[in-house]
Amino acid sequence: MTSSSSSPVHKIEDYSPNLWSTSKVHLRFDLDPHLTVVRADYEVKLNGESIGPLFLNGENLEFLSLRLNGTIADPSEYEISELGLVVFHPPGANFHLTIENRICPSKNTSLEGLYKSGSMLCTQNEPEGFRKIVYSIDRPDNMMRFFVTISGDPNLFPVMLSNGNFITERNLPDGKKEVDWEDPFPKPTYLFALVAGELVETNDEFITKSAKKVTLKIFVEKGNENKVNFAFDSLKKAMKWDEDTFGLEYDLDLFMIVAVEDFNMGAMENKGLNLFNAKLVLADKKSATDETFESIMAVIGHEYFHNWTGNRVTLRNWFNLTLKEGLTVFRDQWFTEDMTDPDVKRIKDILFLKEHQFPEDQGPMSHPIVPKSYTEMNNFYTVTVYEKGAEVIRLVSEILGRENFKKGLIDYLTRYDGQGVTFEEFISSMERAFGKPIPLLSNWYHRSGTPKIQVKDHFDETTKEWVFTISDRDSDALPLIFVNSYAAFGSDGKILSEGKRIQEGKVDEIRLCGYGPSYAKPILSLFRGLSSPVSLESTMPIEEIQILAENEPDGVSRFFNFQNLIFSWMDDLIQNGKSERFSIIIDTLRSCFKKDWDKTYFSFFLSFPSLSQISEQLQCYDYLKLETYRKDAIKTISAQFSKEFQYLYEENRKTIPIQTKEEIGKRRLKNTSLYYLLHDPTSKFEGLAIAQQREAKHMSEEISALRYLIEIESKAKENVVTLFYDHWKHDALVLDSWFAAQVGFGENKSKILETLELHPKFNLKNPNKVRSLYFSYARNPLSFHDKTGIGYQIIAERIKRLNGINPQVAAGLAKLFSAASKQKGDLPNIAKRELEEIQNLPNLSKDLREVTEKIVNSL
Ligand code: ZN
Repeated sequence: MTSSSSSPVHKIEDYSPNLWSTSKVHLRFDLDPHLTVVRADYEVKLNGESIGPLFLNGENLEFLSLRLNGTIADPSEYEISELGLVVFHPPGANFHLTIENRICPSKNTSLEGLYKSGSMLCTQNEPEGFRKIVYSIDRPDNMMRFFVTISGDPNLFPVMLSNGNFITERNLPDGKKEVDWEDPFPKPTYLFALVAGELVETNDEFITKSAKKVTLKIFVEKGNENKVNFAFDSLKKAMKWDEDTFGLEYDLDLFMIVAVEDFNMGAMENKGLNLFNAKLVLADKKSATDETFESIMAVIGHEYFHNWTGNRVTLRNWFNLTLKEGLTVFRDQWFTEDMTDPDVKRIKDILFLKEHQFPEDQGPMSHPIVPKSYTEMNNFYTVTVYEKGAEVIRLVSEILGRENFKKGLIDYLTRYDGQGVTFEEFISSMERAFGKPIPLLSNWYHRSGTPKIQVKDHFDETTKEWVFTISDRDSDALPLIFVNSYAAFGSDGKILSEGKRIQEGKVDEIRLCGYGPSYAKPILSLFRGLSSPVSLESTMPIEEIQILAENEPDGVSRFFNFQNLIFSWMDDLIQNGKSERFSIIIDTLRSCFKKDWDKTYFSFFLSFPSLSQISEQLQCYDYLKLETYRKDAIKTISAQFSKEFQYLYEENRKTIPIQTKEEIGKRRLKNTSLYYLLHDPTSKFEGLAIAQQREAKHMSEEISALRYLIEIESKAKENVVTLFYDHWKHDALVLDSWFAAQVGFGENKSKILETLELHPKFNLKNPNKVRSLYFSYARNPLSFHDKTGIGYQIIAERIKRLNGINPQVAAGLAKLFSAASKQKGDLPNIAKRELEEIQNLPNLSKDLREVTEKIVNSL
């Protein structure tokens, strides 16, 4: 592992084009899990005016040899350091460079570069993993044509894959096999992939709109070949959707996906050879929940959509990561909206943004969607770059309208095809499609923090108008452009007027006529569907919120107004220790039971906000108190509507284990009803949950019953936990949820964490297991922020263990300390002490150094 002392800070203003580029490479791999020899043959070209030193990135490589135009270079001609290799006097403006080095994939636990997972060898190179494979110009603005030869023992590696097209294979006299792959599209190093191992191949095909046949292949470890159907269907839907929506066709004859057990993230869009975390490919009704099915579709779509937004048009530098990620998340959200229910999908995305991105943006890790600097780029694969980035793209689509947005995207992909660009090029394409400049848009890329929007009103006696002043509260921050979709309601719930306003800069004024004989004030619903990623500081009286919660025809807005009703009650309760407002919630719920809503939508509406949603919304971190209030509310609702919930449960009890909107909705509504019923004071419905788990035909039924029984501390808890384990002990992915369920809710989960990490199925080297146990625990506020500090101690200790194994995962876990400064009592101090201890590790990774430094500074 590279020690952190030598790692520089990269600043956006320091970016400059590289003096040299490599336009073509022939890569040769002699595979062996313990000692792989890699040789790269580059065609090197001068970009600048005059010849200067050539720098190649390289980390943790065992150098073997360097040739310049075929001749072995004398050691005085180059120098090797921890970060790479410099050739002092390259032999001309165009020349050949051949370099050879060795690596050890089986010891590479960072899961970056070439590493071993199960029986296979595979790669992860984004952003800077390629430099751990071979000396190279490892930056996204350096694009090359790749020709790849892989040779290896056919018993260990019957399958050997790389990007692009398969060319040939040969059997060598020494018993080895050798294959050639060629990718016709130039690409940066981060999109290179190699996979080799004992994999089972499954097949399908897709005919493009211009009648080209594309072969689709999914490779899995033996035993999983029956879990790929849903992934194939999703892939074909995504391919069709990109054609129908943007006219974008796939550009190779072959598209491959490999499911990998040990993977740091969700998935990776390597050209023609996507690598996926197994949990986002493999699914069948018995083992996957409805949420998993939907994520699989979304992530398969996401990676497939990168083929255009990311691969064909790529990045000039990593500061612009959001250019491909924000845009591609927006595309995958749109895809899922089209494939499922647009309101429900939007609700999920907004909930996610509020729960994860808003806090990130007000904490020590806050950064603009184009960060100004980074030490370790891996630390910037954040909800801000991804999800807030997608919100900014959505804003652009709201300004232009979806048809012009499509034109802008085609302009962008045509004009910049084969290039590495920045968000400015994207904006320029959108402005061309719009026919005029979009003022202040670029400021969204440079301003961090969630804009806080304040609303004030007054009555203008002369015009009899109500004047609503909408202002961006942070007067020092860069001015922005906002889209404000709004509607005005009368007290009878009828819409008086609606529209979409574009606000340029700090203030906007909406003037509306007072209505009725007394010129009553209209009730305003603002930023409907979160038409801009802002946080609205509303001072609306609860009676007005109720009118919106009951009458908003916009389903998304209605949902969030109902949430606001709950928050308003809870806020009152916190401030005054009591509140009269709960009856309003009950009244609104009563009216909902009479509506004929889509089942999934209804189940969302009924679901009481989670503890972290509430604490983030109210900026109150007294979790024990909030949880008491929350549980009281749930019990009251359960008692009030016991009949209704029993009825809903019965009505949706029988479900068919298929992925249709109707069946998904039934399962969700049934589970929501069960959750409330389980909060009945008599415990008389626990049998329902126990039966549901035993008789489940679909994982959504089985795991929900288990989770709820754990959450309510049912007497049957131990039994159902054991039962679930016995049922699923052979399925690693399902066990992830089993681990998570035991530490994810409630107080005092440290003992169980310590027991579970000794479980034979737990594995510190597998990121899915670490996420299911440690991340779930650290995202459970009642345990992690326990006032004794034990939660912090436990997690800090695990971070120390992970530092030497997987710095990226360790840093991800450390980020969860961001919330510590908001805690009361001694907790900020304890967090500080724990993080400082981490900082004293002798081999602290740069990933962890960067994260802990920022958090410690906030404490
Ligand atoms: Zn992506």
